[in-house]
Amino acid sequence: MVHTRRIDLFIVKKCCNRCIFCSERNNLDGSELSFEKIKNILVAERSKGANLVHFVGGEPTLHSHFPEILKLSKALHYNTFIISNAIMFSSYEFCIKTLPYLDEIMISIHGHNNKIHSINTRNPAAFKSVFQGMKNLKKYYKGRLQATTAITSLNYKFLTNIAELIHNFGINEYQCMSIVPTGEGSRKFYEIFPKFSVLSPHVIKAINFCESKNIKIRFSGIPMCILGDRYQYSYDLWEPFKIDNQKDHNGKIRLWNEPGKYIENNFKIDIGRIKTRKCKKCSKNSICGGVYEKYFLKYSDAELVPFK
Ligand code: SF4
Repeated sequence: MVHTRRIDLFIVKKCCNRCIFCSERNNLDGSELSFEKIKNILVAERSKGANLVHFVGGEPTLHSHFPEILKLSKALHYNTFIISNAIMFSSYEFCIKTLPYLDEIMISIHGHNNKIHSINTRNPAAFKSVFQGMKNLKKYYKGRLQATTAITSLNYKFLTNIAELIHNFGINEYQCMSIVPTGEGSRKFYEIFPKFSVLSPHVIKAINFCESKNIKIRFSGIPMCILGDRYQYSYDLWEPFKIDNQKDHNGKIRLWNEPGKYIENNFKIDIGRIKTRKCKKCSKNSICGGVYEKYFLKYSDAELVPFK
C-alpha cells in the first residue's frame, strides 16, 4: 500500500460566495499567499515525504497564479486536490489551463435549485455558474470528481434531489456535512442547522436513493447513532481511527486529533466534537467522532442512542 502524507495549504483568503455557514469567514481578508511562498512550502514538504496537496481557501481557484501553482505541484509529483464552488470551471479556458493538473475535485453544491443554492451561498449568480461548471467538468475532466453539501435548514429535505442532480453530471461520490461551528457556522449554528431528529429521515432517504444509483454517500460531523443501522455511511469510518486520540475532559471524552487527520499543516474539519456520558456505554465509542459540542450545549445528548 502506498502511504499518503497530505498537506492542507491555505493559498487564498477570498471567495466569490458568502455562504451562510462559512467556517472560514473570519479569515477571509482578501489576501493570497505569494507564489514564492507556496513554491517554498511545496518543495520543503515534498522533501519531507508529502505526496498529496489539498489547496485550501476561501476559493482556491481564485488565486491569481492558480494554473502555475498546479503546474508546479505536478512537476514536484504531488497528487492535487481541491474543494471548489466550481464557479471558475464555468469558463472553458480555465478548465483547459487547470484540469490536466488536478487529480481530485470536490464540488460544493448546497441546493438542487437556484433559490436554495443562492440563499445558502448568498450569491444570486452561483447556481448558474456551478451548473455550467459541472457541465464542463463532465465533458473535460478525467480525474476523481466528488460533491459536497453543507446541510442547512434550507436544503436538508432535498439531499436526495441534490444527489440526483450531481448523478446526472456523472458525479458518484457525495459527502453531506454538518455545519462546522466555527466562523459564520458558529454564529448562525442554531439558526441554520436542523435538529438531528428532524434531519434523520431525510438522511436515510438520501442513503436509500444513493444505494439505488450506486452513489457513494457519506456523512461528516454527524454522530453515528443518528445514522442508526446505516452507521457505515459515517465519514468517521473513512479514515483510520485511533482510539488513543481520546482524552477524558470534565467527564466527557474529547478528540484531540481527529480520525486520520495529521497533526501539522492539516485542516481539522471535525474539531469541536465531543463524547458525552451516554457515549461511554456505546459499542461504537471507539470508532465514532461524537457530537459537536456546540450542538450538545443547546440540545444536550437526548437524541443520541448508544449502540448495544
Ligand atoms: S452514542 Fe456517542 S459514541 Fe455512540 S454513536 Fe452516538 S455519538 Fe457516537
